[in-house]
Amino acid sequence: MSDAIRRIIIAGGGTAGWMCAAALRKGLGRTVELVLIESEDIGTVGVGEATIPPIRKFLEHVGIDELDFIRETEASFKLGIEFAGWGTPDSRYFHGFGDFGAVHEAVRPYQLWRLLREAGDETPLEAWSLPAALAKAGKFFPPNPDPRSPMHDYAYAYHFDAGLFARFLRRHCEAQGVKRINAKIDAVQLRPADGFIEALTLDNGTSEAADFFIDCTGFRGLLIEEALKAGFEDWSHWLPADRAWAVPTAHHTGAGITPFTTSTAHAAGWQWRIPLQHRTGNGHVFASAFMDEETARDVLLHHLEGKALKDPMLIRFTTGRRPHPWTKNCVAVGLSSGFLEPLESTSINLIQSGIAQFLELFPSRQAEAVLRREYNRQMSLSYERVRDFIILHYKLNTRSEPLWRYCADMPIPDTLAHKIELFSVRGDVVSYDWDHFAEPSWIAVMNGQGVVSRFTDPLAQRLPLESVRALMAQRRDVLAQVVRQLPAHADFIAHHCPSP
Ligand code: FAD
Repeated sequence: MSDAIRRIIIAGGGTAGWMCAAALRKGLGRTVELVLIESEDIGTVGVGEATIPPIRKFLEHVGIDELDFIRETEASFKLGIEFAGWGTPDSRYFHGFGDFGAVHEAVRPYQLWRLLREAGDETPLEAWSLPAALAKAGKFFPPNPDPRSPMHDYAYAYHFDAGLFARFLRRHCEAQGVKRINAKIDAVQLRPADGFIEALTLDNGTSEAADFFIDCTGFRGLLIEEALKAGFEDWSHWLPADRAWAVPTAHHTGAGITPFTTSTAHAAGWQWRIPLQHRTGNGHVFASAFMDEETARDVLLHHLEGKALKDPMLIRFTTGRRPHPWTKNCVAVGLSSGFLEPLESTSINLIQSGIAQFLELFPSRQAEAVLRREYNRQMSLSYERVRDFIILHYKLNTRSEPLWRYCADMPIPDTLAHKIELFSVRGDVVSYDWDHFAEPSWIAVMNGQGVVSRFTDPLAQRLPLESVRALMAQRRDVLAQVVRQLPAHADFIAHHCPSP
C-alpha cells in the first residue's frame, strides 16, 4: 500500500482553517481529500482584520481575484501603521510599507537623513516615505511595477472583516471540492502503537479518520495540546499584554476610511483602529497586571471616534509559541500554534508561513521525524523574529507609566539586543533568517521610537552636504507631486471596487 497521504482533516474553520484549506487544495490538487470540521456553536475568535503585504501573494496564489476579495470582505487598503504616543504621549510616527527613496545609488536614504540631521536639518525621516505621504493625505493608488517610476518602492496590504473573509474563503474552498462538516469535535483518538492521531469523534455520533490532521481550533489547541500535549513556551515576561477588549464602531465623519491602521499607546497597553468600508474595528490590548479589565474597557470606550455597534468583547490570551507546532501527524496553524499581540498585524502572516512551510516539507503518512524537526526549526525562527520586532516598540518607549517603565527596563532577547545596538552605532540593520520585516521597517520603528545612530556611514560623510540637500529636496517635491495627482482612498475603492 502506498505511503502517500490520501486524506487530511482540518480541525477548525476560522481564518487559519479556511486559509489552510485554500492553500492545501491549491498546493496538493485533487490528489488528497480535504475535510474541514468546524462548530458553528463554538464560532471563531472574530478579530484579525489588519494584514501585511504578503497577504496579496497568498490571495494570488490560491486564485482569488483582488477586486472580488475587496468587495466581499468590505476591505480597505493599508499602507502601514501610524503609532501615536509610543515615545512620549504626544509623539507620532509612521511605519510605512516601503523604503525612504533610493535617491543615491550607493548610500542608503537613512544615512542621507542622518547626515542632514547632523547639519541641523530637523525634517523627520518619514518625510521621504511615499506610503507615509499618501497616508497623511488619505490617498491610495497601487504601486507601479516599473522600477524607474517614483511610485515603485512601496507595497500595500488590506484591512478586512474577519468573519466575511472566512465565509468568502469557505465558498471558494467548497467550490474546489473541500468537504465541510459542521459538528463539534468531542474526542481525539490516538493510535496506541505510536500516539499518532487516528480519528476525531464528533458530537453527531460519527467518527472521521485521516492520515494527517491540521489543528486550527484556536487558542485551545484541541489536537496539538489537549490530545498530543505538545507544550507551550510563555513569552509574557517580554510581552506582558494578556487581554484585549474589541468593539466595532460606525464610521465617524472625522478620520474616515484611512489607508492605514492606527495604534495609540495608553497607560497599560495600546488601542487599534482598523477602518473597513462598512465600519471601523477597534480594540484595547492591555496588561492585566497593570490595569484591571473594567478600567481597560472604559479606556477603550472613552477613546472611540464613532458610535459603538455592540458591547465590547473581552479576549484573554497568553503570549508565546508552541516549540513543536508539528507533533506526530498533526500541525498546528493559527492561534493553536502560538500568539503574538496584533501590534504589527502579523498573525495572519504567520498562518501563511506555516502553511507554505508545511507544503514545502509535505510528508508521507509516516510524518517523518526529520521533516517535523525542520518545520519546527523554521517556525520557531519565524515566531522569534516577529516577537523581536514587537518587543522593539515596547522596549524603546519613553513613557512614564509602570507598564512602560517595566518594558524599558526589562532584559530582551539577545537577537534583538544585538539589532538595537548595531543600529545605534551606525544605522545598520542586521537581517536574520526568517525575518518577516525588511530593513526599512526596522529603521522606521527604531527611528520612530527615538533611536538616532551615533555615526553616519563613511560613504555618506564623503558626499557634499549641498548635493544631499538638493537630492532630498527633490525627493520631497516628487512625492508632493505624486500625492497631489492620486485619488482619495475612499474614492479609489468606490471607483475601482464598486459594490454590486
Ligand atoms: P479561531 O478564529 O478561534 O477559530 C477556531 C476554529 O476552531 C473555529 O471555527 C471553531 O469553531 C473551531 N473549533 C474549536 N473547537 C472546536 C471543536 N471542539 N469542534 C469543532 N470545531 C472547533 N491577526 C492579524 O493578522 N491581524 C490582526 O489585526 C489581528 N488582530 C487580533 C486581535 C486580537 C485581540 C486577537 C486575539 C487576535 C488577532 N489576530 C490578528 C489574530 C487572528 O485573529 C488569528 O490569527 C486568526 O483569526 C486565526 O484564528 P484561528 O483560525 O486560529 O482561530
